[in-house]
Amino acid sequence: KGVVYRICAGQVILDLSSAVKELVENSLDAGATSIEIALKEYGEEHFQVIDNGCGISPNNFKVLALKHHTSKLSDFPDLQSLTTFGFRGEALSSLCALGDLTVETRTKNETVATHLTFDRSGLLVGEKKTARQIGTTVTVKKLFSSLPVRSKEFHHNIRKEYGKLITLLNSYALIAKGVRLVCTNTTGRNVKSVVLKTQGSGSLKDNIITVFGMSTFTCLEPVIVHMADGCTVDGFLSKAGYGSGRNLGDRQFFFVNGRPVDLPKVSKLVNELYRGANSRQYPIAIMNFTIPTGACDVNVTPDKRKIFFSDEGIILLSLREALEKIYSPNYA
Ligand code: ADP
Ligand code: MG
Repeated sequence: KGVVYRICAGQVILDLSSAVKELVENSLDAGATSIEIALKEYGEEHFQVIDNGCGISPNNFKVLALKHHTSKLSDFPDLQSLTTFGFRGEALSSLCALGDLTVETRTKNETVATHLTFDRSGLLVGEKKTARQIGTTVTVKKLFSSLPVRSKEFHHNIRKEYGKLITLLNSYALIAKGVRLVCTNTTGRNVKSVVLKTQGSGSLKDNIITVFGMSTFTCLEPVIVHMADGCTVDGFLSKAGYGSGRNLGDRQFFFVNGRPVDLPKVSKLVNELYRGANSRQYPIAIMNFTIPTGACDVNVTPDKRKIFFSDEGIILLSLREALEKIYSPNYA
């Protein structure tokens, strides 16, 4: 039974970045305006997500890391509007199965925080008082230590996993408004470096400048496309002639209603149209799709990154028309 469960957990948490993604989304769901991601040895030793959100109330301590415990909704209509990122109650239970999970938390109703320890099955096994501001810190030590083969692979590929994580954090830094994001990495004998720091300012434009710098921003142009059924896309694309020769997966970011997602078909389309105009180049693309409630289904893959639009054909077609105009040679 233990083995079956651990294999299932491995499907929600595929790697370092999906583990951190779940924790960051929990912090956003908790209304945090400041989130720090603290890594030890690129996440290999441990990673922590520290927030100033609402905290976890003591009546939830026992059930917190049990499979399918969630404080957020549960019936289908809610799944479609998805005002919160989480909704399956799987992240914390999966993380328990894969590494050593501890939580420190305090709500506005408590004067002290509580430090919680869980075992592999998600049972609460330790509880003690500690000092902390309102908010939550989740720490995961030795991710994948329960899966010997996966663990070996994790240590072997740690730089790659770290790179993927940084790309993910950049995507939150681009889209998050009013949320301060900091990522630090501590290596060797407590050498702590700041890898990412945003002030959580207002606009996508400001966030792009923070993440990629002003010189990159000046090579972009804004794109706004209004499509059928109240769907819109807005964002920024490389100006014709300002793309890059490399197919930079870390320079294309897609969002649906403010959530980072993979949209391989959109990426393919953008590359194709851009390359039509500039044969050997790939554009930077930062695009947020706003899709009204009900027009897209996000409950598809366990990591919620694969999104399927119910009117995908129409969306791709209007995007194609708009981009053809932008990249046509006589576009002013
Ligand atoms: P889900 O996000 O799908 O509800 P999780 O396993 O990610 O499931 O989290 C379980 C529950 O733990 C959440 O529903 C929430 O109540 C609580 N929780 C987890 N992380 C935080 C956090 N950073 N701040 C406040 N509550 C949290
Ligand atoms: Mg969650």
